[in-house]
Amino acid sequence: EALANLIAAGEVVERPASCVKELIENSLDAGARSVRVSLVDGGITGIVVQDDGCGMDAEDATLAFARHATSKVRSARDLYHIRTLGFRGEALASIAAVADVTLRTREPGAEAGVEVHVAGGVIDPPKPVGIPPGTRVEVRSLFYNTPARLKYLKSVAAEQARCVEVVQRAAVSRPDVSFWCEANGHVVFRTSGRGDLREVLSVLFGVGEAQQFLEVRAETADYRLYGYIGRPAQARARRAQAYWTVNGRPIRSPLLHQAVVDGYGGRLLVQHHPVYALAIDLDAALVDVNIHPHKTEVRFSEEADVCRMVTRAVREALAQANL
Ligand code: ADP
Ligand code: MG
Repeated sequence: EALANLIAAGEVVERPASCVKELIENSLDAGARSVRVSLVDGGITGIVVQDDGCGMDAEDATLAFARHATSKVRSARDLYHIRTLGFRGEALASIAAVADVTLRTREPGAEAGVEVHVAGGVIDPPKPVGIPPGTRVEVRSLFYNTPARLKYLKSVAAEQARCVEVVQRAAVSRPDVSFWCEANGHVVFRTSGRGDLREVLSVLFGVGEAQQFLEVRAETADYRLYGYIGRPAQARARRAQAYWTVNGRPIRSPLLHQAVVDGYGGRLLVQHHPVYALAIDLDAALVDVNIHPHKTEVRFSEEADVCRMVTRAVREALAQANL
């Protein structure tokens, strides 16, 4: 079991950023309105994710570390209608296999919270602790027992940048949730959670650049597309600053990216990449988010339709601005 955990951990927890991603997803699945992420040394020394979500009772707090003990998928049918971000029940078990983890959690109605400490796969008995409602997961000394993984990590600065990017992507995907991101005690960024995507973009890109963005909206019987694209002049020479959200989940999709690029047509300078934050909402039955353990890829059942809609909407937004 300990060995199985270590092996599986390698798949789920590649680096600090994958830890951050899993913990944020759990907070969002718990209905958090506010998620605070604190990093120490790029997450290598420490990661704390604190939320104001539904919390857990003492029993669930211990169960949470058992592999496949997810509270989110009850039947095979559920697997095809996944609305939560996590559903495999391996993130906490995997993280706890390669780090020192302290979970503190309290249900809103409960008199006190509970603390569960796990290190080297060994779960200490839960003990009461005074905390506000919600959950706080502290991950220390990531990969202390897997030196090969530790060695494979990049510099603190590089790992921190990846962690921050994960929080940024989460913030863009959920403007209705307030995100805090701090690194070594300094606030990197903070969003209000007021539900305004343009406001999130002004936090990430700066107010001036965010004002340049053009609004994109399109709706068909099956899909709703909305968000912002940069003017052609805002395009980046080095790499795309592209955010895709599908059903509230940050994803990467070369296909959707190409659909956006097609919408710009010849308006982009050669080797320049567009800047955008776009979201698609659609029936969960029309999209498969289950194809990769990291769940950053999706597959649409009507891929060509989706891409056509995206390309057309981008083209229209540019045309409306006479671009
Ligand atoms: P999964 O998210 O796939 O269910 P995880 O290992 O990430 O698996 O989490 C295991 C379980 O622990 C979740 O199903 C959930 O019940 C509980 N849990 C984890 N994090 C939180 C949180 N922040 N708030 C409330 N419950 C949580
Ligand atoms: Mg999870």
